[in-house]
Amino acid sequence: MANSDKKENNVEKKVLIIGGGPGGYVAAIRAAQLGAKVTVIEKQWLGGTCLNVGCIPTKVLLHTAEILTEMKQADLIGISVEGNFDVDWASLQNRKKAVVKKLVDGVKYLLKANKVEVIEGKASFIDKNTVKIDKEDGSSMEMTASEIIVATGSEPFIPPIKGSDLEDVIDSTDALSLEKIPESIVIIGGGVIGTEFATVFNSLGSKVTIVEMLPYILPPIDREIGEMTKKTLSKEGVKIYTGAKVTGIEQGENGIIVSVLLGDKEMKIEGNKALVAVGRRAVVKGLNIENAGVALDRGNIVVDKSMKTNVEGIYAIGDVTGINMLAHVASEQGVVAVENIMGMNTKMDYKAVPACVYTKPEIAAVGLTEEEVKEKGIPYKVGKFPLAANGKALIMNETGGFIKIIADEKYDEILGIHILGSRATDIIAEGALALRMECTLEEIITTIHAHPTVGEAMKEAVLAANKKAIHMVNG
Ligand code: FAD
Ligand code: NAD
Repeated sequence: MANSDKKENNVEKKVLIIGGGPGGYVAAIRAAQLGAKVTVIEKQWLGGTCLNVGCIPTKVLLHTAEILTEMKQADLIGISVEGNFDVDWASLQNRKKAVVKKLVDGVKYLLKANKVEVIEGKASFIDKNTVKIDKEDGSSMEMTASEIIVATGSEPFIPPIKGSDLEDVIDSTDALSLEKIPESIVIIGGGVIGTEFATVFNSLGSKVTIVEMLPYILPPIDREIGEMTKKTLSKEGVKIYTGAKVTGIEQGENGIIVSVLLGDKEMKIEGNKALVAVGRRAVVKGLNIENAGVALDRGNIVVDKSMKTNVEGIYAIGDVTGINMLAHVASEQGVVAVENIMGMNTKMDYKAVPACVYTKPEIAAVGLTEEEVKEKGIPYKVGKFPLAANGKALIMNETGGFIKIIADEKYDEILGIHILGSRATDIIAEGALALRMECTLEEIITTIHAHPTVGEAMKEAVLAANKKAIHMVNG
């Protein structure tokens, strides 16, 4: 594949990539495959947020939290556990570091194998073709390139709440490496980061409170799944306040006190730590992007579907565009940018981007929610299959979820798939393909699904949309 790609592009291009996260490093490898001379400038760590303080380390903690939760209910699956068992936080931290290191080393190896030059340093624009690189030893250098990709990612947004600069007020990066498991933690923001960390700390024994500004948690997720997740977390001991406004944070004797306005009621919530998880912001500060004349919109770099900015030769990918802050989106945007640089006409298509939340049970979705199809006025039908009727879910003792399919009423085209349940984050791959291929219900129905798998429920949910489910009574 890479060789035939190269034949079409025999003029060597020089591509400079600022940032070595999943956007930047994937773009670099793809550019090298296409025959470009590639340099990646990285100021802190290859693998970016995702590998170092995002996707990977959070899931290491979540994996342990999940096993611990299951061990506590081991009798349900025929295991009697005697004596005490608990999480060894220090060992878990070491495991987290080892997993991260292995993956970061893998990225280094791949870049080297693809002959990508990596320069450690902080890049900033001098003009549209020239970048200054400040190195840690105090030296600096300049590089020019006709094609530059900005892949500088994002950082936690800390809102201007009084007291948010206190030492015990932390962000997701701090929360991954706390010295010990906090006895109690107040999480401000009930989005993806908030619910994933609530799952971790609640399972590990902390007293967890979520304070969410909106009337519901997990805003972009299917409302029914959001509400069920709220119920599950609450049942497991997480206190959740929605429609709640944080008015200030102050230092208490054992940590912090968060003042919250709930309706017209003022309340104080105490915790050893307060984790602020109210969204992330593009990293453009210090880039001197204005020297290149690149346009921003509310702090994000503006791009078109080819990932081009308003300045010829400058592209932007990943979180810095603020389009959809997910690692797999950053990587795909990186491929699209590079392919356009190398003369191919590739466009980003956001229709089939899977989104996953690693709570217990997991959540995964692709395409439109029921709320969105209603809003767009599209006539639709829904097929829903409960995992209580799925053999594998029963074996795994995780039957509380469901798979919901939303299809166009007239043509049966699948518009959205929403899963709450075990293995949701793996099963959604089929849903992404279904949307990408513009599949109809019939095309999933005539696809044989293996038994026993949670994935079988996908076919049943699709059958249910036409009231033909086999393993439940159609309503
Ligand atoms: P980044 O990964 O942020 O990489 C940008 C890189 O650019 C960094 O390494 C940075 O050091 C470097 N850089 C910045 N400025 C400069 C400069 N001036 N010069 C040189 N280098 C510079 N997404 C998922 O899809 N799945 C998940 O499960 C998931 N979990 C997450 C959990 C947490 C706690 C967080 C915070 C995020 C999570 N995300 C997840 C989001 C994911 O991490 C990001 O979408 C992804 O990392 C974005 O990739 P990127 O390449 O755009 O930016
Ligand atoms: P988010 O947008 O998912 O959630 C932020 C939440 O905070 C929202 O529910 C919002 O209503 C709430 N909020 C905003 N201001 C508030 C305030 N003042 N008080 C109380 N609540 C407030 O953002 P996040 O959880 O910080 O995550 C950032 C991004 O990182 C995500 O959008 C996602 O793109 C990425 N991420 C992805 C994964 C994953 O894919 N599993 C995991 C973690 C992070």
